[in-house]
Amino acid sequence: MHFTLHLTKACNCRCSYCYAPPRADEGMTEETARQVLEFTLRVNQDNSDSIGLVFFGGEPLLKRDLIRFIVAETQRIYREKKRHFHYKITTNGLLLDEDFLEFSLRHNILVGFSLDGIRQSHDRHRKLPDGRPTFDRAYPKFRRLLDARPYSSVFATVNPDTVEYLVDSVRFLIGEGCRYVILSLNYEAAWTEEDLAELERQYGRLAELYIEWSREDRKFYISPFEMKLASHIAGEHAVKDHCELGVRQVSIDPEGYIFPCVQFPATGPQSRFCLGHVRTGIDETVRQRLRDESHAEKQVCRKCALSRRCHNTCGCLNWQTTRTLTQVSPVHCRHEQMLIALADRIGATLYAERSPIFLHKHYNTAYPILSLLEDQMRGSPAAEESATTGNSENERPIAGG
Ligand code: SF4
Ligand code: SF4
Ligand code: SF4
Repeated sequence: MHFTLHLTKACNCRCSYCYAPPRADEGMTEETARQVLEFTLRVNQDNSDSIGLVFFGGEPLLKRDLIRFIVAETQRIYREKKRHFHYKITTNGLLLDEDFLEFSLRHNILVGFSLDGIRQSHDRHRKLPDGRPTFDRAYPKFRRLLDARPYSSVFATVNPDTVEYLVDSVRFLIGEGCRYVILSLNYEAAWTEEDLAELERQYGRLAELYIEWSREDRKFYISPFEMKLASHIAGEHAVKDHCELGVRQVSIDPEGYIFPCVQFPATGPQSRFCLGHVRTGIDETVRQRLRDESHAEKQVCRKCALSRRCHNTCGCLNWQTTRTLTQVSPVHCRHEQMLIALADRIGATLYAERSPIFLHKHYNTAYPILSLLEDQMRGSPAAEESATTGNSENERPIAGG
């Protein structure tokens, strides 16, 4: 299980699509952070796996002292109890500096950087509180991050008014040397038929690029294609990868209240989505009810052949778009259909060609290790980072830096 720590609700940006508009707060205290860590140990007491912490916001780098405190506390816990922790941070990057970069390298904190691709796309929505665009501030930080940590993920949000830049943006990010590109659709936006047609066109071109880059033996990861390719290969077992709302991960707000995922802290501690508090633990009845609700068969999906491979159990997206856990929005459904068809086309083409990198990536469980060894032999800076740290995010709803 991993734990997403919403360290603060404050942010130094005002992205127009942020689902949890920032507000000034003190953020999580050291005392609450201590309680959070005790809670993670109680939850994982029968399990010796490393405990995952995700530093999230608002903008988590506004609470960098608290991040240092938490990491120091986890080291103390390791010395005393031999329990391991691993860390990720999701940030808009504007406060990323040499000091934090060095700290992140020392403690292997994986960094997910929010950059919506090329300037025209990024500047449309990602702004400062006074309305100024942020590309010119974010890009040098992103460049520095990739130079130091080439395995970092980049999160790019796709909107109806930026969808025309999708292919150019991914080409730009991959061209910069980024290996992990995580695309998230702004499902809440007003997508018209024309926008969706453009989205399908852009994805179609991206699928062609995916094939071309694989033929060139280039290493990259583009979500959500990879997820859909994996679900095709998993066949009957694909359903195992479906989200278990509040089971594999929980979100903890700055006051220590527990929620099933990142969308829900904004609903507040009195809402039906609050699972409890880190002092008292998770109310299993509430967790089970929410998990069952989000897993209940959706009316519209009853006869759909794609249901095993569809992301229709994502409680966050369903709540964000339909204000229920039991329905899927038409845009979400349409998006799933287009992605699955394109992923299958990519898979069929590269499988028929016996593309070495494609076969390795999707059929060889040792691929991350072998890829790392290969990078080391070539002296690539990417080899400085572990390829085994699970830096393969699922699609992520948009906030948290
Ligand atoms: S593609 Fe649409 S109808 Fe089919 S399972 Fe997904 S959400 Fe349901
Ligand atoms: S984002 Fe969606 S799929 Fe991922 S853990 Fe949260 S609810 Fe589940
Ligand atoms: S999307 Fe992230 S960076 Fe933008 S305002 Fe929201 S929390 Fe801040």
